[in-house]
Amino acid sequence: MSVQPLIQATYFVVAAVFILGLKAMSSPVTARRGVVWAGYAMIAATLVTFAWPGMQNFGLMILAIAIGFVLAWFSGKKVAMTDMPQMVAIYNGMGGGAAAAIAALEFARGEVHGGVVTTLAVCGALIGSVAFSGSCVAFAKLQGIMKKAWRLPAQNAANVLLAIAALALGFLIISADTPAPEYVLGFFALALALGVVLTVPIGGADMPVVISLLNAFTGLAVGMEGYVLGNPALIVAGIVVGASGTLLTQLMAKAMNRPISNVIFTPISGEATGGDAVEGSMREVSGLDAAAMMRYAAKVIIVPGYGMAVAGAQHKVWEMAELLEEAGVEVVFAIHPVAGRMPGHMNVLLAEAGVPYDKIFDLEEINGDFAQTDVALVIGANDVVNPSARTDKSSPIYGMPILNADHAQNVIVVKRGKGTGYSGIENALFYKENTRMLYGSAQQAVAEIITHVKVLSA
Ligand code: NDP
Repeated sequence: MSVQPLIQATYFVVAAVFILGLKAMSSPVTARRGVVWAGYAMIAATLVTFAWPGMQNFGLMILAIAIGFVLAWFSGKKVAMTDMPQMVAIYNGMGGGAAAAIAALEFARGEVHGGVVTTLAVCGALIGSVAFSGSCVAFAKLQGIMKKAWRLPAQNAANVLLAIAALALGFLIISADTPAPEYVLGFFALALALGVVLTVPIGGADMPVVISLLNAFTGLAVGMEGYVLGNPALIVAGIVVGASGTLLTQLMAKAMNRPISNVIFTPISGEATGGDAVEGSMREVSGLDAAAMMRYAAKVIIVPGYGMAVAGAQHKVWEMAELLEEAGVEVVFAIHPVAGRMPGHMNVLLAEAGVPYDKIFDLEEINGDFAQTDVALVIGANDVVNPSARTDKSSPIYGMPILNADHAQNVIVVKRGKGTGYSGIENALFYKENTRMLYGSAQQAVAEIITHVKVLSA
């Protein structure tokens, strides 16, 4: 009896579970469940593929899976919460690279002979290669290995020329009965170079958008190569990732107030270029005074940022918020869409600390409330509350909507010293009349506030 119907039925169930898993991931309450379901579905899809008629090279397949499993298991267990963005970037790149490798193998086997299948193989290979090399560059930037955002003298021309040259070779591959190896090699070299050249000049506030865009590319590439292999599970997984990545890219671009075309053709380098002159001086506050300001406030809005992630201070922050609430203070959290170093970074941390979802507000929901708020407590955030984004056209974050922390009656900023944020620019908020700086690592500073709030409430 043929096993094909059983395999196809399993792929169908797997595809349905992927979609249900993604649906579950749309809420932090059910997200973990969604990830687990999708993981089991992927295991099922992998296992039934072994039964595919004519399947060979079982030893090599098991070896590859074992190596991947061991590497992923240990790196997943070991990775610090602060290194998650880089890990997500590199895993995304692996997906794009794997899709491109499928096409490379099909070309090498001479299995594609024109028509829709070859066209999709070429498109998937192009997009997958761009996602792979682009994600490697994004990884290097997030890891701090690549500190500068280089821009070629004729950057846009280079982008367009590389894309045209790669497409031309792709066209030759599609039209040839058996593509010449030099075309295939040249095509992949150009596609990989395109990913690097596109991503290297991007920095600053454009990074979140490019990360989501590369994510969408990986999904599309996987979906296309799934079609080439005739594998429904890959097609559905790819389309789901491609569609959700595209939506996320649109959301991120909207959050940054930057059309996607601007991100690619007039990217923000992330290099600080002067910026508004900042006047005044920073005024320090003690842990006791900060605690008293909040303990006797009616409303406190907490703005977490990358520094909270670095310090792993989310649990302490929630402990402090609960204490303040017990003392009758209304405490809510304001999350900027690009706070931290990956989309949803702050939501993940606050969810991990057990902060209820009805206490967490997006930028649009909460920005009008700062003016009626006694204290905005900025914890390790910088760029997302930098008022120069509103006014300074030379700023690398110009045009990005910010959280209006500066509109609050009082602002307390917790950070270690005078370090700038990801975009490397000064922040006029820190010098404002109503701002006080509480220096220290977020974890210690918040622990100190907790001690004083307890005493004040005793
Ligand atoms: P920022 O990177 O702007 O600022 C973080 C601040 O945290 C720094 O000023 C630093 O100051 C402080 N800090 C660092 N360590 C600690 C610590 N242990 N305790 C307390 N404070 C600390 O963070 P934001 O979240 O405000 O902004 C995110 C930035 O990252 C944006 O520019 C965004 O475009 C970019 N980005 C976002 C991505 C995403 O997907 N979310 C991806 C890539 C980039 P000090 O050194 O003085 O302590």
